[in-house]
Amino acid sequence: MDIKKLYRQLIMDHYKSPRNKGLIKDDKYITVAMNNPSCGDEITIQVDIQDNIVHEVRHDGSGCSICCSSASVLSQLLKNKNTNDALEIIQTFYKLMQGEKIDKPEILQDAVVYEGVSLFPARIKCATLAWIAVEQAINSKEEEAN
Ligand code: ZN
Repeated sequence: MDIKKLYRQLIMDHYKSPRNKGLIKDDKYITVAMNNPSCGDEITIQVDIQDNIVHEVRHDGSGCSICCSSASVLSQLLKNKNTNDALEIIQTFYKLMQGEKIDKPEILQDAVVYEGVSLFPARIKCATLAWIAVEQAINSKEEEAN
């Protein structure tokens, strides 16, 4: 099976059966809402960060398969990572989206499936929307701590 087909299957799997989907009413979560008017994606992210560890990432919203699946992949990828590692993973994903060479592709795990999106600049915002939201949540938590 060729790799593109495999990537596509993984994206569709996360789109159809999103992991960690649904918001929870609890003050422990930092909530960030984002939208991408050019595609119509709307997403809300909830992040539970305690003692510099990302305990949980939740997401809800509606959008295209790239946007929604990417939020699901991200929610699994960042679970139990410390905030520095999480930010490094997010920055590495942005580089992947810009088509830049990345030093540690292994830290992206399943998120490498979005590699091909870099060829479609209009879709980059779809793929990164949830990531930008989580980055903001982590940064706001760090500001709060200082
Ligand atoms: Zn989209």
